[in-house]
This record gives sequence, C-alpha cells and structure tokens, in this order.
Amino acid sequence: MSKISDCIDEIVGNENDEKDIEERNKKDIIFIAFWCLIYLAMLAIQAIFDEQIIQAVVAQLQIVVSVVLTARYCKTGYLLSVALNALSIVCVIFNGIAVGSILFVGVIIPVGTIISVSFLFGIIRKLHKSMKEASNQREELVKLAEEAEEAYEEVRKMNEQLLETSRVIKENEERLNHMALFDALTELPNRRMIINRLDFHISYSAKTGKKFAVVFIDLDNFKRINDTLGHEKGDMVIKKISQRITAALDTDDILGRLGGDEFAILVQRDVDSDEILKYVEEIRAAISEPIVIGNEEVTVNASFGASAYPKDGSDSTELLKCADMALYKAKADGKNRLEFFTPEMKEEIQHKVDFEASLVAGLNKEEFHLLFQPQHEPDGQKLRGFEALVRWRSEELGLVSPMQFIPMAEETGLIVELGTWIFKEACRKLRMAMDTYGLENLVLSVNISTIQLMQPDFYNIVKGIMEETGVYGRNLEIEITESVFIKSVDNAVEVLNKIKKLGISIALDDFGTGYSSLHYLRSLPIDTLKIDKSFVDGINRAESEKEIVGSIISLAHNMNLFVVAEGVEVEEQLSYLRDSGCDCVQGYLLGRPLDDEQFNETLKKASEYLRTSESPEYK
Ligand code: C2E
Ligand code: CA
Ligand code: CA
Repeated sequence: MSKISDCIDEIVGNENDEKDIEERNKKDIIFIAFWCLIYLAMLAIQAIFDEQIIQAVVAQLQIVVSVVLTARYCKTGYLLSVALNALSIVCVIFNGIAVGSILFVGVIIPVGTIISVSFLFGIIRKLHKSMKEASNQREELVKLAEEAEEAYEEVRKMNEQLLETSRVIKENEERLNHMALFDALTELPNRRMIINRLDFHISYSAKTGKKFAVVFIDLDNFKRINDTLGHEKGDMVIKKISQRITAALDTDDILGRLGGDEFAILVQRDVDSDEILKYVEEIRAAISEPIVIGNEEVTVNASFGASAYPKDGSDSTELLKCADMALYKAKADGKNRLEFFTPEMKEEIQHKVDFEASLVAGLNKEEFHLLFQPQHEPDGQKLRGFEALVRWRSEELGLVSPMQFIPMAEETGLIVELGTWIFKEACRKLRMAMDTYGLENLVLSVNISTIQLMQPDFYNIVKGIMEETGVYGRNLEIEITESVFIKSVDNAVEVLNKIKKLGISIALDDFGTGYSSLHYLRSLPIDTLKIDKSFVDGINRAESEKEIVGSIISLAHNMNLFVVAEGVEVEEQLSYLRDSGCDCVQGYLLGRPLDDEQFNETLKKASEYLRTSESPEYK
C-alpha cells in the first residue's frame, strides 16, 4: 500500500526537504541578481549605443530576461521584471527628453513586456494554485491511503482471529463429541458408546445369525481403596486396571467403562462358555496382579457377570440387565469370580428385591421384637443374664428367621437402622429389669453386626442410647463375630477399645466357626469367648471332639477370657462343660429364647433367688 503514496509524490512532487529548499533559495538570489545585472547592463548599452540594431537586439534580450525572471521566480521575478521594464521606460523618457525626441518603440517594448509578463504571471499563478490544490489532494490521498492501509491491516487481523476462533470451535466440538462417547479418565468408550456399539452389533447379528457375549466387570471392595488411598490414587488404580484389561483383550472385542469401578466387554465373537471362562480367567489374573501406587502396593480383585446373545436377550437393555444380574450373583457368592446369567437369577433377584421391600415395611410397621435367652452358671442354677435375639413377625411373610433376614439387612444396609432399634430395645428392657427386680449384676448380651460396628457414628449411637435409657456399661455385653477383624483389624480394635471405656464387655461369638486363630485372640480387646454350638455338639459325639472343647476352655482361661458355651441341649454336654471349668452356659437345656412374659417370670425368680439365696430351677 505504501506504493500509492510514492506514486502521488512522483506525480505532484514533494518538497519536504528543508535543506534542499534553503539551497535553492540561495541559488535563486544569485541568479536573480545575475539577471538583474544583465538587464541593467543592457540598459547601459542602450544608453551608450544609438545604433538601431543594437537597440533592437538589446530590447529582445530584455524581453527574454523579463520572461525568464517571471517564469522562473514567480512573484519576485514578475515584480523585478515590472520594475526593470518600468526603469527601462523611465530611462527611455529621460533619454528622449535629453535628445529632444522620445523614441516611441523604446516605450512600447517595455510596456508590452510588462503586459506580457503580467499575463505570464497570471498563468503561472493559476498553475501554482492548481499545483497547490493537487498537493492538497495528494496529502488527502496519502492520508486516505494510510487509512486504507490501517483498515486493511485491521481486516487482516480480524480475519486471522476469525480463522483462529473457528479452529477453536472445531476443536471444542471434537472434544465434546469425544467426551460424550468416551470416558475422560481411561479414554475407553463410555456407557453410551458401549450401548451404541451393542445396538449396532445386535442388528448386525440379527441379520447374520451370529452369536456374541457381554461381560460385566466390577472391582471388589473398591470403595475401601478409595477410602484408604484417596480418590486421586483410586483413579490411578482404575486407570492401571483399564490398561491391564485392554492388554488382555482380544482384538475383536471392545472394552468400555460404564462408570465408577464398572467395566464391560463386548465379546464380538461366537464363543462358548468354556472359552469365556478361560478368557475371563486371564483378565481376572491380570487385574489381580499387585499395583504399586507411590509407596503403596494394592491388590484389586474383580467379579464378572456374562450374558449371551441371543440366548439371554434380544436387545441391549435386556443383555446388559442379564450381565448385571450375573455380576450381582458373582458378588453375592463370594466375589472374585465369574457367573453366567441363568433365568433363575431373575427370580432370585426379584425375590431379594421383594424381601428388602418387606423388611423396610416391617421396620416402619414395628413388626420386630426381642426374645431373651438366659445364660447360667454351669451348675445350671445361677442366672448370669440373657442374650437378646431379634424376631420378625411379618404381616406378609409370617415369622421370619433372623438367619434369613439379618444377612439381607446387612446386604442392604438396613441393619444399621434395625441394629440401633435392637440395641435401644434391649437397653430399655434391661432398665426395666433393674428397676423392677433390682438385679444389679445382670448382663445383657446384644448381637452387633460388623456393618454396624464399622459405622463411623457407632460409638456415639451406643453412648447416646445408654444415656437415654440410663443403663450402665457393666450390665452390657456386645457380641461380635470374627468377620469384624477380617474387614479391618485396626479400625475394629479402635472402636472396641472406645466401647470398652463405656464399661461394656466384648464377646467373640461363634468361636471356632470362622478364621479363628490364636493370633486374633491375643491381639483383640475381647473379654468373653462364646464357644460355638457345633463344638458343644461334638461333646457327646466323640472323645476327641470333647477334648477340643476342653482345650478351648483352658486356652481361653489362660488368656483371662470368660467362657460361654452356647447351644447346650443335653445333660452330658452340661456336665462336661461344668467339669471343664466353663464359666457360663446357654442353650435349650437351660432355657429357650423367652418372650416378654417368660422373661419377666425368669427375672422374678432370679430376684427371689437372690433374696433367699436358694437355688430355683430355670428350666
Ligand atoms: P447367634 O448369635 O449364634 O445366636 C444363637 C442362636 O442359636 C439363636 O438363634 C438361638 O435361638 C439359637 N440357640 C440357642 N440355644 C440353642 C440350642 O440349644 N439349640 C439350637 N438348635 N439352637 C439354639 P436365632 O435366634 O435364630 O439367631 C440366629 C442368628 O441370628 C444368631 O446367631 C445371630 O447371628 C443372628 N441374630 C439373632 N438376633 C440378632 C440380633 O439381634 N442382631 C444381630 N445382628 N444378629 C442377630
Ligand atoms: Ca450371638
Ligand atoms: Ca453364636
């Protein structure tokens, strides 16, 4: 664009250089002086020489000088020409007066010259005016050109910005599309994409008659990893596992992350259940390899559920639901395993869903109550206390065994609410027993589920209920099972120690049925050991089994533990336990779980026994 202003300079001329102007002014003065001198010299020649020819030549030269001055030096030149010619006229007149005749031609020529240069000057002025206008126009043009240049630059910049913006928009669009179909953490297809692919594969398989399978994967106890390592490291574990599954994946198959710790594989091949089993086993082994995150090493297991097309469902919703049900079964049956969907699962799950709904309704309708099974000293006489046992008389289902509804309540988390109710009800009954019968040393045992114990506010709930009902810790015992320690030893020990500070004693229930080890017994803050019924049953079965019970009792005594034998049904068991030094017995032989009326009766007898110190029978 700068070319435009250059062109204008070329056409109109540019006299901006001050030095040039100064230089030229100097030259002009010299030349003007030179021409004036020439003119004056010619006036002198005219005065000296009378010859006609000289006069004529000089007059011609004077005209030339006048024209040159006017043309060359504009106003100054013109004024000088007029002055010189006027001088010439004056000279002619003086000369004429001196010689007695005025030469007419001598006057006419300078007058004519004055007129001519006046014309010339007029033309030149006009020319100058035009030139000035042209110069102004040039300046304006230059200005316009500069503005045009600026505008062009602005447009160019805006254009660049527009291009950049459209590039960013395109990138964002692509990213949004990616986000809608892929998981941000693992870069794997997300649930939506998996369903899209599944729909596509179903329509393809429907036409070609091909079979395929869907495998759901869910990491076992992943919540615990998140809770202990934090979410950031939890995410790293998820990422690592997704890479391991991808590495073990068949090239025909697609892996997706459905969310959280759930993945799905579309096995886009016709494979039988044995092949899937082998395939999943490889993936399971890959997942279970230890993972190192920072300084920590974690091992994650996974459960798998598989469904097959077209056997288990003809659309994606059905197939996913079936795989999910199979996974649910794998989890319920001990985790870290694969289950194939079977139609029975549907019924089983439906049954569980209905059962759960009844359980919730039962809680709201107060369909639960407690029975109290007495615990005696082994002479079968003196009452130590009772174990509180919950019962559910359901309006829909009739009398339901705790063996049935407690595990379900644990699975659904309802045990927290139910367990709180049980503890409170037990404490209320204990308060009543103390107030009515004054049995100061009575011990009431309450079963506490592991899930309850693991609740962060368990201690506060217990303390709150004790305060509300006004019972003392020394009259309370909580029964826990070894599963508490399998879940988290440190956590369990911490909670139990706090509970013990309230004066409550801790009993280890069902001893001998689980993972019982001496190590547990030594490291746990327990006060009482409850020998499981299965060992008590052994007493009258074989001598060797009898000895096991004897050994458990002496071992527990060595560790300063109080021993309760449960499920005592026959006299032989009772007498062996008495002889072996067992501290307390519980079982049908001495008393079944009692309802309120029987409970009161037993308490009354116990208080009378205390008063008379005689030995009533409690059978
Ligand atoms: P558990 O804690 O081992 O309770 C003892 C179970 O053995 C009770 O069954 C009791 O009635 C039964 N029993 C007692 N003596 C004998 C006997 O001589 N022979 C036979 N055959 N059985 C005897 P129940 O009440 O059906 O409870 C079963 C299980 O349900 C309990 O086992 C406990 O694990 C759970 N449970 C019961 N009540 C509660 C509760 O309030 N809270 C929690 N969390 N679990 C409870
Ligand atoms: Ca118990
Ligand atoms: Ca037990």
